[in-house]
Amino acid sequence: MESQIYKIHQQLINKEISCTALVQEKLDLLQQNTFNTVNSLLEETAIELAKKVDAKIANGQEIGLLEGIPFGIKDVYMVQGTYTTASSDLLKNYKSAYTATAIQKLLDAGAIPLVKENCDSFGHGSSSENTIFGAVKNAVNPALVGGGSSGGSAVNVAKDYTIFSIGGDTGGSIRQPAGYNKVYGLKPTYGRISRYGLMAYASSTDCVGPIAKSLEDIRIVLNVMSGKDVKDQTTYKSDKIKKDLNTSNIKTVGYFKNFIESKAISNEIKVDFLAIIDKIKAKGIAVKELEFFDSDILVSTYYTLAMAETASNLSRLDGTNYGARIEGDTLKDTYSITRSEKFSEETKRRIVGGNQVLSQGFSDEIYLKAQDVRNQISARFTNDFKEVDIILSPVTPQNPPKIGDSLKDPLAMYLSDAYTVGFSLAELPTLTLPKGTNTGLQLTADKKNDAHVLQFANLLNDIL
Ligand code: GLN
Repeated sequence: MESQIYKIHQQLINKEISCTALVQEKLDLLQQNTFNTVNSLLEETAIELAKKVDAKIANGQEIGLLEGIPFGIKDVYMVQGTYTTASSDLLKNYKSAYTATAIQKLLDAGAIPLVKENCDSFGHGSSSENTIFGAVKNAVNPALVGGGSSGGSAVNVAKDYTIFSIGGDTGGSIRQPAGYNKVYGLKPTYGRISRYGLMAYASSTDCVGPIAKSLEDIRIVLNVMSGKDVKDQTTYKSDKIKKDLNTSNIKTVGYFKNFIESKAISNEIKVDFLAIIDKIKAKGIAVKELEFFDSDILVSTYYTLAMAETASNLSRLDGTNYGARIEGDTLKDTYSITRSEKFSEETKRRIVGGNQVLSQGFSDEIYLKAQDVRNQISARFTNDFKEVDIILSPVTPQNPPKIGDSLKDPLAMYLSDAYTVGFSLAELPTLTLPKGTNTGLQLTADKKNDAHVLQFANLLNDIL
């Protein structure tokens, strides 16, 4: 698909549409939608900003490329004065005191925020059913899940309710819902975009990233949000990715044989994936089979660390400084009653699991061991990227489940993250291209080579 951002920009400057009418149309669509994508609408601010854009155009002033472009924000980002609930009961009435860096950069570029989007509570989930706002429904088939945790964001883009949305990806939460709803979703290299103002799930893998209907829109939004931020010391300075996506430096593609031979993958996804490999070979690109860790090891390493980090991050939510508080007889009771009543079952499962792996007597055996395996995973990738420029994989082993099924079986849900979490542990840039298999294709490059991912995706767009 062509860039929606360029198209709307042209329509605005040619006065074919007004920004106010465009924003109102999208707000109406969001308001009436039956996919449960909306936690709160930012109606007043959006209309006010749109009027300013229209006034500028009427005065003959120039507008920037993102000026007047409506977008959505996963409800885990701070946007000053807006409800920021993380789809949780505990923060149902919490309002942000400041704005996240990534979102501020988009606002500074003139983009118009429409909506705080439904997601799994605190990013905990792979289906967007772990939410107080009702399960997000899949854009293609509403009987299926929207995917998670950034489900509302992916569905809004797929249904054209937003031009792009900003998701958050800790272990697949941008890539998997993008795949389930057939849109693009990018998790950049860890540190390329500031996490300041993103509610922390697992700080060592949390990434900010765009979801959109075209690669070009992914590139534009990525460039605007990237950069070093003194408020997030893991950020680094990066060059803007150029529009001309030259593919000549991509000569070898690899894929993990054991991902494709695993018992967990559906036959349909396997057959489709291998057909893509053949097409790539037919184009004269070398393809190398790689060996990798079993996906079970990737999933257990990821969940050990993610649970430990989220237990630690969420310890601040005890009814004192943020959100709901239920008084008990003692202060300790207040903490436990608030947390017991206001966190979801899934979030409590993770907090209990995380505190267990961090506790004395267990942490050496479990937490430190997971750190060690994580280092081995990263080292393996470093070696692999000496031989290949891109690693290709399915996004998920199976098609999206029906609404209700994942809640019954959390372990099955964790295992459905088999193909996304390894790349997160290694901090790699990785993109969902909505083509090839029913849940898309995942393209991954070495650290800081985000441009390679977009370049190869461009090439695949031509040959698939
Ligand atoms: N499904 C994974 C989890 O529940 C990833 C979620 C995410 O990236 N926020 O941890």
